[in-house]
Amino acid sequence: MSQQDNFKDIISHCKEYGYVFPSSEIYDGLAAVYDYGPNGVELKNNIKNYWWKAMVHVNENVVGIDSAIFMNPKIWKASGHVDNFNDPLIDNKDSKKRYRADVLIEDHVAKYEAKIAKDVEKGKNRFGDQFDVEQFLATNPNVLRNQAKIDEINQRFKICMDNEDLAGIKALIVDLEIADPESGSKNWTDVRQFNLMFSTQMSSVADDAGKLFLRPETAQGIFVNFLNVQKTSRQKVPFGIAQIGKAFRNEIVARQFIFRMKEFEQMEMQFFVRPGTEMEWYEHWKEKRINWHKSLGFDANNYRFHDHIKLAHYANAAADIEFNFPFGFKEVEGIHSRTDFDLGRHEEHSGKKLRYFDPELNESYVPYVVETSIGLDRMFLLVLSSSYQVEQLEQDGKTSERVVLKIPSFLAPVQLAILPLVKRDGLAEKAMAIFEDLKYHFNCQYDEKDAIGRRYRRQDAIGTPYCITIDHDSLNDDSLTVRYRDSMEQKRIKISELVDEMKKELSVENILKQL
Ligand code: ATP
Repeated sequence: MSQQDNFKDIISHCKEYGYVFPSSEIYDGLAAVYDYGPNGVELKNNIKNYWWKAMVHVNENVVGIDSAIFMNPKIWKASGHVDNFNDPLIDNKDSKKRYRADVLIEDHVAKYEAKIAKDVEKGKNRFGDQFDVEQFLATNPNVLRNQAKIDEINQRFKICMDNEDLAGIKALIVDLEIADPESGSKNWTDVRQFNLMFSTQMSSVADDAGKLFLRPETAQGIFVNFLNVQKTSRQKVPFGIAQIGKAFRNEIVARQFIFRMKEFEQMEMQFFVRPGTEMEWYEHWKEKRINWHKSLGFDANNYRFHDHIKLAHYANAAADIEFNFPFGFKEVEGIHSRTDFDLGRHEEHSGKKLRYFDPELNESYVPYVVETSIGLDRMFLLVLSSSYQVEQLEQDGKTSERVVLKIPSFLAPVQLAILPLVKRDGLAEKAMAIFEDLKYHFNCQYDEKDAIGRRYRRQDAIGTPYCITIDHDSLNDDSLTVRYRDSMEQKRIKISELVDEMKKELSVENILKQL
């Protein structure tokens, strides 16, 4: 199955099993806006909780806030978003489709990267353990040729972006003979800058005085509250402020499902440090964040760091954590060293001091900032696309297929399904009594409809890690069967031990301790 087909299947699975619906569907939807269904909201909340625990509860020098979406519009002038938060856009004159010029170039570079990856794969298959990847990458003529091409494109692109040379970007697209991915046409317009912020009116007077922006990132709510939080939480630099909240961007090229949305959620943390120590903290948070991702147990080869070629107007170092989504390696999280740019600009524009008095140095300064910024919706897609599996099963000489979401158990929307083997003989009543007790500890689902095999498949499809089956023996020996989603193995346990056993299985304590 091609990656594209696999992605289509994941999208329909999300709809069929109550994870993600297109927004306003009965009115034909709204481009790049989505709603989360009953299972989706549970998964989303569980991801948020895991992030919050790992960032705020586990680090005694990180605290949280929840700032408003609407802010004084001067904030966006100060932060540089009014003037600089632009994407370079280009239209195809034949297909009338609009693209981000930088993404067209990135996708072109990705083709050379894919060629290199393919050559490495071939080498591994041919030479097995003897294969020295480093040496191959440093000496193989094909690899060197492709790498040289990548470096040349990136270099040219960087110069254009640094000089805001939009004509140069168009020339690069033309020279590389990049075609419209949908129509194949190379008939392009010039490249233009397009500001991504949505605006609205606060007062009833429709003039610029009441113009507000929907925040395009949650970070600014943290910067403008820096001193409020520092003083009230009695934190000393270095310390961090974390926030989870909605952000809005008028993404023109919005495809790829919930990967690029107009309304999305970010989980951000700004870590305030002494000037001059920011590189140490940048490395520290890069490591912490990649460990958080890897703690979920998905294939480690699907993650990589990607250093930014063009740094944002506020950064002196920046890297993305990229994940191998069904459409290739793409950013899921950014780690940025933002210098004192934001606090410095807010001092300048507000006229208020945003300094920290460092008792150890006996001096005041504007702290430097290292931020970690992850998109919750992209993280959701990462979890779903890594968990979605179609397995062929052999049983009693027959082949069948099961679709299963192997979501890490502590993130699963439904943790336990309580299933009486049959409805009669008092099994339903017994199962319901167990459900009534368990629902105060876990998110449980009770299901008595259809044959047990079909019920297991339904739970597999939504990713329930444990099915609890109550059978005739349960009435006599007060035990029941736990069926494990991934291995499909079954284990008999005492009803009295169930809560403790399941709490152990679903605990994140040990995972958090290893981060
Ligand atoms: P991209 O290059 O993909 O547009 P970005 O570099 O502009 O992303 P940041 O400004 O660093 O993204 O935002 C931090 C995180 O917010 C990203 O890593 C991503 O996970 C998430 N994010 C950004 N834009 C969107 C969007 N339109 N839809 C969903 N998530 C987004």
